[in-house]
Amino acid sequence: MNAASAIAGHSFRPQLLERRTRLQAAAGSVPDDYFTSLIAEIDAALTRIDTGQFGVCESCHDSIEADRLAHNPLVRFCLDHLSQAELRAHQQDLDLATQIQSKLLPPRDIALEHWQTQYRYQPVGAVGGDYCELIVLDDGKSLFFAVGDVAGKGVAASLLMTHLSAIFRSLLSLDLSLADLVSRANRLFCESTAPAHYATLVCGRATEEGVEICNAGHCPPLLLGRGATRRLESTGLPLGLFCGGQYTVCHLSLDDGESLVLYSDGITEAQDPAGDDYQEDRLIRSLCDHSEQSAEAMADSVLKDVARFRQTRPPVDDMTLLIVRRRR
Ligand SMILES: [Zn+2]
Repeated sequence: MNAASAIAGHSFRPQLLERRTRLQAAAGSVPDDYFTSLIAEIDAALTRIDTGQFGVCESCHDSIEADRLAHNPLVRFCLDHLSQAELRAHQQDLDLATQIQSKLLPPRDIALEHWQTQYRYQPVGAVGGDYCELIVLDDGKSLFFAVGDVAGKGVAASLLMTHLSAIFRSLLSLDLSLADLVSRANRLFCESTAPAHYATLVCGRATEEGVEICNAGHCPPLLLGRGATRRLESTGLPLGLFCGGQYTVCHLSLDDGESLVLYSDGITEAQDPAGDDYQEDRLIRSLCDHSEQSAEAMADSVLKDVARFRQTRPPVDDMTLLIVRRRR
C-alpha cells in the first residue's frame, strides 16, 4: 500500500457514491439478491478507499492497472490475478478489440498520382492505442492522413482509438477545412469521452498542390527535404482536453521524392537496456541514411534500427511510423 494509491482512491469516492444513489433509485427494477450484491460491491470499494486498500490487488498486493480502475472502480484484482471467468471475459474483450482494430488499419501502401505512403504499426500488446489513418479522398488524387496516440493502454485505449477513427471518418464526408475538421473532432471527442481521456494527433491532407498539416500536441512530424530536415512543432492542444480548442494549419510544399514522416513516441522513447531513449536525433539520422531508398525500405530500416537499439529491452509502448512521400 502506498500514498499514491490512497490519493487516487479518494478521487473515486464521488462516482462510487453517485453509483450507489442511482442503484438505490433503481432498487425495484432488479432482483433483490442482485441488488444486494451490487450494493455490497460498492460498499466494499468505499471501505477499501477508507482503509487505503483501494487499487491494491487482493491476491498479490501490487497496484491494479490504472486504466482498468478508471473504467471499473469495483475491480479487486490485477490482470495477473483475475478469476477464470474474469480471465475468459477479458480475453473475449481483447479478441474483439483486436478484430475491430485490424479492420480499421488502412492499406499499407497507397500509391496515387502524386503521393505514395507506407506505414508500420506495432502495438505493444494484442491491441494498440495508436491511431494510424490513411484515406484516399473523393477526387482520387488527394489523401487524408493521421497518426495519433490515445492516453492509456490496452482494450480501453484501443476502443478510444476506434472512437477517434469513427469521428474522423464521419467528419471527412463534410468537406471541412482542415482546421475546422480538427476543431470539430476535438469537440466531439471531448463531449463523448471521460475528462481523463485525450489523444495527441497529427493529421493532414496531401493534394496535388502540397500538404496542409495540423499538429495537436503530438510529437513533431519531420519533413525530410533535400539536405535539410524540418520539424513541424505542435500548434494546438491534444484532442479531448478543452472543448473549445483552436487549431492552426501549416502549409508545406514538397519537392519530388521528399517525405513527410509522422510517428508516435513509442519510437523515440524506446529504451535500451541502460534505460536511455532512442530519441528524435537518432530517428532523423536513420531516416536520412535511407532517404534515397523506397519508402518501404526506409520504414523497415527505422524499425530495424529501433530493435537494434532496444537489444533485449522489451517495448513498453505502441510504435507507429507513417511516411507520405511526394512521388518522383
Ligand atoms: Zn495481482
